[in-house]
Amino acid sequence: MKIREKLREISITKKVLLGLLLGAIVGIITYQLPESGFKNNFLINGIYELFGQLFLRGIMMLVVPLVFVSLVNGVAGMGDVKKLGRIGIKTIVFYLGTTAVAVVIALALGHFLKPGMGLSLQAMETVEVTVNERTPIVQILYEIIPKNPLQAMAEGNMLQIIVFAMMIGVGISLLEEKAELLVRLFDSLNDLIMKLVEIIMKAAPIGVFGLIAKTMSTVGVKAIIPLAKYIGTVYIGLAIHMFVVYGLLLTILTKFDVKKFYRKFSPAMSIAFSTASSSATVPVSLDILENEMGISKDIASFTIPLGATINMDGTAIMQGVAVFFIAQLYGIPLTPQMIITVILTATLASVGTAGVPGAGTIMLSMVLQSVGLPLDGMGLLMGVDRLVDMGRTTTNITGDAVCTAVIATKEGAVEKGVF
Ligand code: ASP
Repeated sequence: MKIREKLREISITKKVLLGLLLGAIVGIITYQLPESGFKNNFLINGIYELFGQLFLRGIMMLVVPLVFVSLVNGVAGMGDVKKLGRIGIKTIVFYLGTTAVAVVIALALGHFLKPGMGLSLQAMETVEVTVNERTPIVQILYEIIPKNPLQAMAEGNMLQIIVFAMMIGVGISLLEEKAELLVRLFDSLNDLIMKLVEIIMKAAPIGVFGLIAKTMSTVGVKAIIPLAKYIGTVYIGLAIHMFVVYGLLLTILTKFDVKKFYRKFSPAMSIAFSTASSSATVPVSLDILENEMGISKDIASFTIPLGATINMDGTAIMQGVAVFFIAQLYGIPLTPQMIITVILTATLASVGTAGVPGAGTIMLSMVLQSVGLPLDGMGLLMGVDRLVDMGRTTTNITGDAVCTAVIATKEGAVEKGVF
């Protein structure tokens, strides 16, 4: 009874971090165990997988309904198409700008830290790489309009859902009092889904534990050692971007205290780290930004799902470092033209990256192709991709939250006293 009461007193933030830490320790210990049915079937693919998947699926179940409902609700509440356009443009400029800065940081680190120098190709394991066909730009543009909104929802096509929800929201606000019932309905549905997020988040510590324990017990240390310099360089880039770039943006452009902002946002960061999916983190980010930081849902319900789809600063950092890593590994010098091409393509490739695990590495092929680097190099990185993915996804979603804070501050949409 006492333990239960004590546990109840610990904040969810601490519990999730504890789950993360314990999961990592237990996973590393499990990795050391000799191969056996107990290790593989009972622990890794049994308990860890079950805990992790139950939570992950629970939270993913809410992503599509939440994005749709909260965006309709937000846009209908805004009631001003011009304001929507202004926020949309600011958000996209902010997202693209921070991503370009991220690539430049990564390229500078790649140049100075030389992650691919002194490695022997033979000593490394390679995974076979298949390259996706490239979709023409025109098609990418027209496909943001869903032909069938239900299909868009069934497939979880975030951009199409965003467009559909915005149109419904605009329609509702144009109908004015004729749509009063709908306004109340969407408001109420939004509260309902937020309640469900709160309930599922109670399982987050255990879910995060399972996800991390599974990852740590399956990623081989053998694969990490030759790539430690690559992994380290990416993480240094992520840290610089998170603490210096985002730190400055928060300090200069908002009234949020950086340390407190990160502390409050840490449950979302833990979920991103353990799921390696920006999409899966959307409900948690929205919950924290709206309920704990006082950011208006008119803004967050638009910027967060959009950011989870197109704003991937961490992914861009990985891609920048990977370019240098592969070029150095194969002894190919990078010319200034190649570097400029990488800045442009990595920014675009990260926009095209879906918010799901491993997507950034698939898009890396586009960056490598643009400067004629060997795609085989990607195979080397695949073995440790999950470890890098966890970090870059954390940066990806933090970037979305920082942008949301900046835009909400500029729009005067931060409720005082909540933060
Ligand atoms: N996993 C990342 C995300 O969801 C995308 C990537 O693979 O870089 O944000």
